Amino acid sequence: MITKNINIAIDTLNNNDVVAIPTETVYGLAGNAFSESALNKIFAVKKRPLFNPLIVHIKSIEQLESIAIEIPENAIKLAKYFWPGPLTLILKKNSAVSNLVTAGKPTVAVRVPNHPLTLSLLDSLQFPLAAPSANPFGSISPTSAKHDLNYFEKTIDVILDGGDCENGVESTIIGFEDNEPILYRHGSISIEEIELKIGKVKIHTNNNSNPNAPGMLSRHYSPSTSIYLTNNVTEIINSFYEKKIGLLMFKNKVIADEIIHQEILSENGDMKVAAQNLYAALHRLDNCNLDVIIAEKFPDKGLGKTINDRLERAAKKS
Ligand code: AMP
Ligand code: MG
Repeated sequence: MITKNINIAIDTLNNNDVVAIPTETVYGLAGNAFSESALNKIFAVKKRPLFNPLIVHIKSIEQLESIAIEIPENAIKLAKYFWPGPLTLILKKNSAVSNLVTAGKPTVAVRVPNHPLTLSLLDSLQFPLAAPSANPFGSISPTSAKHDLNYFEKTIDVILDGGDCENGVESTIIGFEDNEPILYRHGSISIEEIELKIGKVKIHTNNNSNPNAPGMLSRHYSPSTSIYLTNNVTEIINSFYEKKIGLLMFKNKVIADEIIHQEILSENGDMKVAAQNLYAALHRLDNCNLDVIIAEKFPDKGLGKTINDRLERAAKKS
């Protein structure tokens, strides 16, 4: 059921069942972070491998003490500045946090989401919510209640409808070695904005067999149609002779006979708007029965880095 009634979501979560919840980034698949049965249901519904840890959503910075210890000064600084907001911090976990949430790691991912409905939901609950994105493992993240329904109509009972997600891409993930910040995932807050607050941030390099942040697995966020990411869209169109082509463009329209469907992410070249539209456009393209989606590379700065990161993973074959 899609509902705007927060009381239904509260009852369902108090029963240790799962609810799809709106956030400013993408929809989450939420359950009581302290309930093993709710956590198991999240993994089962998403078909998420157990090595892939979850993000814990708390109502305010004060609730941090219920899950994390030895919090670095720079983490507090970032939390005070960006919460509620699309910044996830990786912190040392306390003993109340189950190994299921953290996939056995000594650290826990945590943030305060910036969505009015979900903030009042968190305020009405006696526990934080573990909530990864509400998509089957590896597929495109959901940015509307309708996307959730398409994925989970048969497997979950309650989708809390908070409208379309305002930011449209996942949170930025920052961890620490002592007090030194490390970027684990590009996200809704650009690395430049983070560096303005705490200085240079090291970029974590990942490998697929032991991914620290599985959002960094090389194939992720993928539609079922093949994607090609390119700086030169017209050249690639010519190499797909007589194929049904879909285009995902930043701001300029392309005219060509082979194009069945075309998505322009922001006609004014606004990267925030482009990020907001990205996943919805990919969902639409994926429903057009195309042979191939050709996506235009973004300028490699600010949110363009995050969008390129998602498109690169979507385009990976394995
Ligand atoms: P999702 O909400 O589906 O984007 O998934 C949560 C993301 O947070 C995944 O990429 C996780 O790997 C990442 N994450 C959660 N906990 C940790 C952790 N302890 N260390 C590093 N990354 C984490
Ligand atoms: Mg995800």
